[in-house]
Amino acid sequence: MSLSTEHPLKCPCCNNPWSTTGDFALFCGVCETGKGLSRSNMDLSVDPTVNFYRYANGGWMEKNPIPPEYPAWNTFLALHTTSQERCKDLLQDLKQKERHDDENARKLSVFYTAAMDEAKIEALGVQPLEPAMQMIQAAVAALRNGDIAAYSKLLGIFPAKYGIYPFFNTSASPDAKNASHTLCNLSQGGLGLPDRDYYFDEDKQDKRDAYQKHIALMLTLLEDPSATDSTEASLHAAELVAELERKIAHAHMTRTENRDPDATYNKMTITQLTEGAQEKAGGMVLDFGSYLEGSTGKPAAGLGSINVRNVAALLCVGDLAVTTSPEIVESYLKWHTITSCAPYLSSTFVQENFNFFEKTLSGTQEMKPRWKRAMAFTEKALGEALGQIYCKRYFDESSKIQALKIVEAVRQALEARLNEVEWMKSATTREQALKKMSRFHVKIGYPNKWIDYTKLKITERDDLMTMIFQSRAFEHAREVDEINAPTDREKWFMTPQTVNAYYHPSLNEIVFPAAILQPPFFDSNADDSINFGAMGAVVGHEMTHAFDDKGRKYNFEGELLDWWTEEDGAEYEKRVKVMVDQASEFHVHGKPVQGKLTSGENIADLGGLRLALRALKSQPDFEPSSQIDGFTPVQRFFLAWAQCWRQNITEERSLQLLTLDPHGPNELRCNGPLQNMSDFHDAFSAGPGSPMYRENETRVDIW
Ligand SMILES: [Zn+2]
Ligand SMILES: [Zn+2]
Repeated sequence: MSLSTEHPLKCPCCNNPWSTTGDFALFCGVCETGKGLSRSNMDLSVDPTVNFYRYANGGWMEKNPIPPEYPAWNTFLALHTTSQERCKDLLQDLKQKERHDDENARKLSVFYTAAMDEAKIEALGVQPLEPAMQMIQAAVAALRNGDIAAYSKLLGIFPAKYGIYPFFNTSASPDAKNASHTLCNLSQGGLGLPDRDYYFDEDKQDKRDAYQKHIALMLTLLEDPSATDSTEASLHAAELVAELERKIAHAHMTRTENRDPDATYNKMTITQLTEGAQEKAGGMVLDFGSYLEGSTGKPAAGLGSINVRNVAALLCVGDLAVTTSPEIVESYLKWHTITSCAPYLSSTFVQENFNFFEKTLSGTQEMKPRWKRAMAFTEKALGEALGQIYCKRYFDESSKIQALKIVEAVRQALEARLNEVEWMKSATTREQALKKMSRFHVKIGYPNKWIDYTKLKITERDDLMTMIFQSRAFEHAREVDEINAPTDREKWFMTPQTVNAYYHPSLNEIVFPAAILQPPFFDSNADDSINFGAMGAVVGHEMTHAFDDKGRKYNFEGELLDWWTEEDGAEYEKRVKVMVDQASEFHVHGKPVQGKLTSGENIADLGGLRLALRALKSQPDFEPSSQIDGFTPVQRFFLAWAQCWRQNITEERSLQLLTLDPHGPNELRCNGPLQNMSDFHDAFSAGPGSPMYRENETRVDIW
């Protein structure tokens, strides 16, 4: 990231020039690096015992308004933007090279250039969709002729070629009861809105109305990209498409139901699925065998058993896909094609897609500049190719060693905690928990084995949309290769340039991509209290997922197997109930947080923070009464935690996340755990009656 001379802004805390990108401020590098905390980011006029989030972040919130091209602004987005800037530099360097020493570099350069070539994209209009439209015609013709096998097969080939999944989704993932084997998963899908709740919630009628108009306009534009108003025929078709989606949505699980590992484990043969759908429908249904043959290019017999994550939804679409009139199916398939491809087409489509999904649904004011969108496309298509050169230039190998020390310290804290948890009565439950902890796999930085992009064809002749289709087909084929085969344990589910981390219950592994190892999460120049309050809490969070209300159902080998005694399980669930109730008390613009949807993340936040604090206190040079800038190590620990969650967000986006996000709102994520922790109460003198304090009886302590 370079300092811009066009924006001679000064950092209010140190008078250094701001690090700027475009016209909004990122962190002041100096104030964020080394010291870890800056008083100018706080609001000292707020009482920390009333709202710690505001106290710790008020100054930052004041000076970091939401940039018009984002629905929110926070630590993650700021780092993401930095990461995009870095990738842009990398790609510009690649472009300047006349010859490329490796194929990945050439592909990245050619792809990004095509993604930036607006003139070519404008000139082509919807022409790149022609092959997909022809396949839709063929499928609909087969449906009209009553040739269900041919129709089903074409519906399966469609996602394999174009990465567009109407009616439902397929993917590959480890068998929940035998993690070393990977299965084909069929799951609910086929909706154009972000979730089934959008079709039914009373407070979303305005979104549904806007959605139907959006479908109509897109269908009109597909016929005539210069149109400004929807045709009557498109308005009618949009109504029928929305109605079809509403029927599909009705059979979907809610997000909360979909978190249940038992309810979403339904292993069966393909024939059993088709027969189940026939029985339910009492007539003809989609031929799932032919569908999967089309989708995988393999005979159905070679696919083994499948897991149907959402049985009701699959039975429903098995029926609807063949009993809905061919005209409506045609509109529906066209709509799903255009909505999936709009960002890569000419400006009319890009704009209308932005207007609905980013403006109407999320409250974003402006479209991102072309290069940021092009970078996002490149990341999607060639994420690990980009990640590989990103790590070469930007990843400091020594930070990996330091991060591993934090991981080990937090793991030891978890081990100590598991040994002492007082509500866990049975020795066998405790033994199993310790065993699970001892079997954690840890990945930091980047994969040992990178994705091999050899089979992905990227040539200068092609336009962006065609390259996107090729890349999607490549990804689909990679998943197909995983089906009915030993699980690939080297695979990463995030690229190294992603600012995030994850726990995978089937693999019992915690993964920290390179890009999370930077301030404010991790800073090799900062003191322990900062690194444990931020990175340590992230590590603890991911480890706690192994023991959250979902993770606890998997054993040390990542298998869905109940290893809890009845009594210990009941004690655990009692505590989860308290967490659910606590979260449900929190409101955003008058609407309550979904306590059950967010319980796994809330458990992980509280557990992770406790473990990180325990790890900090166990450091040999921990000196509780020492001070930096007037704060003790424990105070700095909590301030570092709080600043991870600083954010400004539009009302639309925060309401959208309330429906979609299994994480709670940032203010709750920051304050919720602290209200339960006596270390926090002591550090900031929060006592009875203060909002940051909970009476002992209403507190919760799981890990
Ligand atoms: Zn500064
Ligand atoms: Zn999490």
